[in-house]
Amino acid sequence: MNVAEIQRALLARGYDPGPIDGDLGPKTRKAVEAFQREHGLKADGIAGPVTLGALASLTPEMTVKSPSAPKKGRPIHTLVWHCTATPEGREFTRADIDKMHRARGFTGIGYHKLVHLDGSISDGRPESQVGAHVSGHNTGTIGYSYVGGLDAKGKPKDTRTPEQMQTMIRLTREAAAKYALRAVVGHRDLSPDLDADGMIEPHEWVKVCPCFNAIAEYGALLKEVA
Ligand SMILES: [Zn+2]
Repeated sequence: MNVAEIQRALLARGYDPGPIDGDLGPKTRKAVEAFQREHGLKADGIAGPVTLGALASLTPEMTVKSPSAPKKGRPIHTLVWHCTATPEGREFTRADIDKMHRARGFTGIGYHKLVHLDGSISDGRPESQVGAHVSGHNTGTIGYSYVGGLDAKGKPKDTRTPEQMQTMIRLTREAAAKYALRAVVGHRDLSPDLDADGMIEPHEWVKVCPCFNAIAEYGALLKEVA
């Protein structure tokens, strides 16, 4: 892979390498680092063989000629719920989250929808575009997030307001109907199954996001629309 191909691969996976100019500048290196961090690789910004291998094997979108053009009819089988990992009771706008995600090297907000404390919704990335919300599982999924997930001391907590809960059920139902979803999960449920017993258990969670059991709460909503 030459530098331009690396830049295109990064862009296709939701990382912002700057202009596709074939030049391994600071922006591209920052995007390589973000990709490495999110994939459990040494975050040194150097596109060595391991990083190139991961980029190549994990990037089916690479073949898209113009990654900035939204792909129509992207197959979506799973809805992944997140929290923004921000303190209870504090509102964050779409612009706030967009800024946070750009600081992590993404091309912008990684979620497809954001549910505010009062239950209102902001659209994030268009759902026709691959998100940047869960390492290794962005293809085939959409990612929605509620604002919250931490207590005042910064410890993980299910901080959903009643209004958020209502909206989250409605959004889950709508997505299930629109995409004929096969699963609704929480971010933590996509952690690696370290002991290979077929279940993702608390000791294996990479993150506790979204701080509630999405499979148990929302699984039944899938059957309703099936
Ligand atoms: Zn998450």
